[in-house]
Amino acid sequence: MSVKQIIKKCEQLYNDIDLFYVQEWKEKHKSRAIGFMPVYVPRELIHAAGMLPVGIMGAGDLLEIIKGDAYFQSYICHIPRSTIELGISNRLDCLDGMLFPAICDVIRNLSGMFKLMFKDMYVKYIDFPQNFLKTLGGNFYQHELRTMSDDFSQINNVDVNRDDLNRSIKLYNENRAVIKELYDLRSQNPHLVPGSELYLLMRASNVLEITEYTALLREYISETVCEKRPQRDNIRVVVTGVFCEQPPLALIRALENSGCFIVDDDWMLGARFILGDVALSNDPINALADAYLNHTVCTASKYDQDGNKGAFLIEQVKKAKAEGVIFAAPSFCDPALLERPMQQKALNRENIPYTSFKYSENTGQFQVIKEQTGTFADSIKLWGDS
Ligand code: SF4
Repeated sequence: MSVKQIIKKCEQLYNDIDLFYVQEWKEKHKSRAIGFMPVYVPRELIHAAGMLPVGIMGAGDLLEIIKGDAYFQSYICHIPRSTIELGISNRLDCLDGMLFPAICDVIRNLSGMFKLMFKDMYVKYIDFPQNFLKTLGGNFYQHELRTMSDDFSQINNVDVNRDDLNRSIKLYNENRAVIKELYDLRSQNPHLVPGSELYLLMRASNVLEITEYTALLREYISETVCEKRPQRDNIRVVVTGVFCEQPPLALIRALENSGCFIVDDDWMLGARFILGDVALSNDPINALADAYLNHTVCTASKYDQDGNKGAFLIEQVKKAKAEGVIFAAPSFCDPALLERPMQQKALNRENIPYTSFKYSENTGQFQVIKEQTGTFADSIKLWGDS
């Protein structure tokens, strides 16, 4: 496929809020599908049980909220409203379960609501360790993983063994390696991998079966390096704070059109959450737990026991040779906004410029944001080295 065809396919998946791909996959494989909310879930466990992991990132700006608002107070983010709307409009009926990984009270409450409202569905709130000692948090998390793995075996009526788990871990390792290759390529040649294209490719991770997804990314990489695209006089920025409720696609395009090359980000972070490979071993559950404890990104989406807030962001900036940071957070997103002062402090120490705005997944007005980030880009171009 050409780059255009690959991106068109990803855009179709992005727009597929009725989950037709999932329905077809289930029909074809005579199997089941388990949904999950952002940010990170160990998809390997779902895959090893022969099921399809399906990321549900709300409905963005693709669905009018008719009843979803009635379930929530005004002053919280938008993603739970559209997720409930997806549920009550029967768009999630093809899912046999939903996972709610601990990130904030909103997600915790949403998991409770799903339990009450969708009684035929397996609903699990995943607690992640906040203590990173192998003997404490590690043991606790292994127990969570084993419980989930047993549940998935039961749901799909299969016996998941060590080889199944290792096979899935290997496929997800390969996938993360290709995603890293894609991100490295963009960082080195941002004009070859526009942010909006990368975003659509990452969104495809929500539904595509992992081998199909890895192959698609490989195809994109080999095609896009042959594309003739204009070099642009844009500044290089890291976008951060977008790990849960996702910005609308048009907002990403607006950022790029305002003169910014996005050279790193934290959208669709779950697919990049583990850094490097999970070990293939005699005890794959232990390996998954070890990867979570010791080899994951350290953003606002994960409890940081060292209190070294902002260090990961500085590392992102330096690695990507970024000239500035754009803080983009969903309105009322506690995890992103509470982390911000510490991150800003770290940037101030390093003399790295930043700007910030808030959005909601269904934001429709981008002009003000575009002018703001455009001015930010101009100021870096004019005074960045002074
Ligand atoms: S956007 Fe922020 S506040 Fe809302 S559910 Fe996600 S992490 Fe929680």
